[in-house]
Amino acid sequence: MAQEQIKSVQGTEDVLPGRWGHWRALYATARRLFERYGYGEIRTPIFEDTRLFVKGTGETTEIVEKQMYSIPRAGTTTTPGAEVAVEGITLRPEGTPPVIRSYLEHNLHKQRSFQKLYYIGPMFRRERPQRGRLRQFHQLGVEAIGSDSPLLDAETIILAADILREVGLSGSKTFINSMGCAECRPAMRRRLHAALAQRLGELGEDDRERLQRNVFRVLDSKDERSQAIVADLPPITADLCPACAAHYDQVKAALATAGLEFEEDGHLVRGLDYYTRTVYEIKHESLGARDTLCGGGRYDDLVKLLGGPPMPCVGFAMGAEATILAMEGELGAAPESSMRPGVYVVCFAEEARRACFELVQELRRAGMSADMDFEGRSPKAQMRAANRLGAPICLLMGPDELNANKVTIKAMAAKKQWSVDRSELVRELEAQSLGLRGEGT
Ligand code: ATP
Ligand code: MG
Repeated sequence: MAQEQIKSVQGTEDVLPGRWGHWRALYATARRLFERYGYGEIRTPIFEDTRLFVKGTGETTEIVEKQMYSIPRAGTTTTPGAEVAVEGITLRPEGTPPVIRSYLEHNLHKQRSFQKLYYIGPMFRRERPQRGRLRQFHQLGVEAIGSDSPLLDAETIILAADILREVGLSGSKTFINSMGCAECRPAMRRRLHAALAQRLGELGEDDRERLQRNVFRVLDSKDERSQAIVADLPPITADLCPACAAHYDQVKAALATAGLEFEEDGHLVRGLDYYTRTVYEIKHESLGARDTLCGGGRYDDLVKLLGGPPMPCVGFAMGAEATILAMEGELGAAPESSMRPGVYVVCFAEEARRACFELVQELRRAGMSADMDFEGRSPKAQMRAANRLGAPICLLMGPDELNANKVTIKAMAAKKQWSVDRSELVRELEAQSLGLRGEGT
């Protein structure tokens, strides 16, 4: 009986060799620009103490309420009704709390209080799978820790926009807003709550409940009925205290100086509890309902909340899958990555196989891309494979070559064939200068 074939888990994605082009371009561009802007890479574990996210991301957020993959500590039970067992570990749903945890745990703030860090890696959220929404996805993000300068808010926005521009996207738009601080947030929350409570019946069902728990989540709602009501509200920036209003003005002035186009959206909030002051999103026109490539903003209270000193921060997270979709939309499918070997070694007799293997290794160590047959095919079939792969040079190894300690070189395009001493081979091939060092693209 045939064995059952096990399939991938819903909401996960394989990136096959032919699809890597845009991924590689995005990762390489992001790394180059992160480092050009002075950010150093940090890598934290894939899972953390569950409490880090309950506290950091926020207990009333969509992520903590519904989307975390948590494993309770052995012996603990979940309280009936509670979604998350707080004792245990959780696959990270986002990068910011882990970075701050690491920063505090290793006393980075005592070395230098101002730090610019970046990360790239997988995140996990139990979302309803749909186009561009996965349960394992990838984010590229930065966190600038230890400064409340509005120039830094602007710098992170410009950095994100630079990455998108450099990977070739032109259809993205930047939206910004300010959510205020501990000073002005209470008035903002009160006014929002009062305005939305008046139209409670018109909100989507889930949002009626959200209104009680966290009014900002109604602003972030994906429900069209709620969105229509939110559109009528005055901008939340109307409630900013003078310090927050001044900060926001300086962010906008810095963006304008840099020539970065943006739009103000007075109802923009982010789905995480820790944001203060500046929040922003970069959206792409081609992506439909889930059109955000990058979300970020300032979070001046998180470091303290996680047990550190008061430390203002700003950062963003860019969704890799969303950005790749936008790249496919604007630039078309990525070119197939070619694994074209520069040299293909053709084995003419079983006793020459080990010598072929040694030859391939020697060429690779000399910096050339080289390959051979591993399927025991006939010399004719090996030549066909070399042709199909587009190798410009074949090396032929049979009993004669083995005995004479020579190798036969065959230049495929010129249909020319000659022999050299084994010891002369690398030099001879280098003289051919046929781009044999190609690594595949
Ligand atoms: P949204 O409201 O779009 O769900 P969010 O507030 O949950 O966004 P962030 O946590 O700020 O998003 O993540 C930043 C970016 O990471 C998103 O704009 C998106 O591109 C990407 N992202 C978030 N969740 C997913 C997911 N489940 N699958 C793929 N990409 C995601
Ligand atoms: Mg989300």
